Amino acid sequence: MASNRTFTMIKPDAVEANHIGHILAMITDAGFTIKAMKFTHLSRKDAETFYAVHKERPFFGELVDYMISGPVVAAILEKDNAVADFRNLIGATDPAEAAEGTVRKKYAESKAKNAVHGSDSDDNAAIESGFHFSEREIVG
Ligand code: ATP
Ligand code: MG
Repeated sequence: MASNRTFTMIKPDAVEANHIGHILAMITDAGFTIKAMKFTHLSRKDAETFYAVHKERPFFGELVDYMISGPVVAAILEKDNAVADFRNLIGATDPAEAAEGTVRKKYAESKAKNAVHGSDSDDNAAIESGFHFSEREIVG
């Protein structure tokens, strides 16, 4: 059975551009409930660990530098079909390819600086949530 939780980050470009409130409104308007949330600045080690799956990719260094360039909002979200529905809400990785009305279409600067992260599977949602939050930081 599909889990009903996903993990997101509002990335440094969107925080810097003062889009936190707008993006959280889109998320809650779409029916997601916030189960945990924090404002935090990732260390280089945090970002390298979080995106370790991409470490062989040519853009890995750029991705890590970007993710530590400023603070992020990390959150656990709950909704039926959370992982897939959240990926639909945020849109394609490259905002030029993202559908109208998606978070990335509205707020992402580029394929690299693309405003938000969304888990790509239930397993990764659980791993990423556990990376950022302890059990007692998650509202029951
Ligand atoms: P995320 O995992 O952050 O939700 P995604 O699943 O849409 O994004 P991934 O393929 O997992 O995309 O890539 C992770 C992140 O790496 C992207 O969100 C983007 O910030 C960056 N990235 C991906 N492709 C490129 C690229 N070709 N050049 C630069 N940065 C990239
Ligand atoms: Mg991804």
